[in-house]
Amino acid sequence: MEVFVGWNFKPLAKGGWKTCAEEMSLLEAREWGAEQIIAIAIAGPVQPDDLSGHKGLVLHPCYGCRQMLLRSGLVQSYTKIHGLDTSSDDPRGLPHGFMDFSYILQLHQSANSY
Ligand SMILES: [Zn+2]
Repeated sequence: MEVFVGWNFKPLAKGGWKTCAEEMSLLEAREWGAEQIIAIAIAGPVQPDDLSGHKGLVLHPCYGCRQMLLRSGLVQSYTKIHGLDTSSDDPRGLPHGFMDFSYILQLHQSANSY
């Protein structure tokens, strides 16, 4: 088992290019030759989703990352997503820390319809 690490780059100037940790990690996994991603851990302060506006108890991959992960062929519906809210007084990311990737997709689809 290998662990791939990434981090977010947010531009200081408006209109600058943003890079997400998921994108960086996925590229690293591809270069290494990974065939499957078993779990993804995401740590950061909880914020509303960029597309659905849904704000969960833990941080989720943004819309662009969800699409990228979905199309990567490396992530399955049962791939576990572990979110960790670093702004919490109790930053263990629980009780909703582990979710299937399919649940995250479904959650944001349903949030779009409200
Ligand atoms: Zn992202």
